[in-house]
Amino acid sequence: MPLALIVHGGAGAIAPHRFEAAKAGCAAAASTGWEILRRGGSALEAVIAAVVALEDDPTFNAGTGAVLTKDGHAELDAGIMDGATMGVGAVAGVQRIKNPILLARHVLATPQVLLLGEGAEELAAARGMPFVDPQHFVNAYRRAPSQPMPDEQAGSLRAEGKHGTVGAVALDAEGHIVAAASTGGVANKPRGRVGDTPIAGAGFYAEDGVGGVSCTGQGEAFIRMAVARRACEALERGAEAQAAADDVIARLGARIQGEGGLIIIDAAGRVGFARNTPAMSYAYCLGDMTAPIAGI
Ligand code: ASP
Repeated sequence: MPLALIVHGGAGAIAPHRFEAAKAGCAAAASTGWEILRRGGSALEAVIAAVVALEDDPTFNAGTGAVLTKDGHAELDAGIMDGATMGVGAVAGVQRIKNPILLARHVLATPQVLLLGEGAEELAAARGMPFVDPQHFVNAYRRAPSQPMPDEQAGSLRAEGKHGTVGAVALDAEGHIVAAASTGGVANKPRGRVGDTPIAGAGFYAEDGVGGVSCTGQGEAFIRMAVARRACEALERGAEAQAAADDVIARLGARIQGEGGLIIIDAAGRVGFARNTPAMSYAYCLGDMTAPIAGI
């Protein structure tokens, strides 16, 4: 089975001076995941490692670099789906976990699929995960030089500044496909707002023999159109990865004026990516590539 891995660092209006940092961050995350796949590691391990790298890079709106709510704190969402078992693990609104994707992975090992806020953090404590002070995210947000303060961002994907989500999809040598996403959500969001990122079928989806998808954009629109699942349905109808990505993102814009993008891998190991926003950072590795191709 050919190996494939693709990551994204969010869709929106990325300022030209941030292009290099966004491309470099995606390339580094893709390299991390790719090394794991090339050593014979699983898609699950590769995707988790790639998303952790993106969550730890303050360039991106996930983990440490997350945007803040209207009242100035971070509420983080993440989800992962294992195409081999069709198991899902997701968390929403966590405030004290540095790498929400690692907590989502713990949820994947439970009978539940999605845990919220304090309940999710109780699981983190039970699994011995480290906690950070919520101020960790506020400090990171305020330190980032390109980062406007919450009131200046008004929650628009088109507004300059940080926005987006991070995500990764991988196909391993066993033919297993895994997809994941992690986000701080939309800048200036009201408390308790949850977008598509922890919702399987909307923000991410994976099914062996079909494909895997990770999304970024206006979460409400991605939920309404079940974008990730819809892209996999295009694969099931025989579309290749790129055609499926193009078709679904075009429909998102045409039907409900939704904005965003997605990355996708089909069961044959072809990758695709599409956006209807001014930019989306991405990086991918395929076949015998030793270094990723990254772009905006
Ligand atoms: N999809 C994310 C959300 O709505 C944000 C983004 O990707 O820009 O929470």
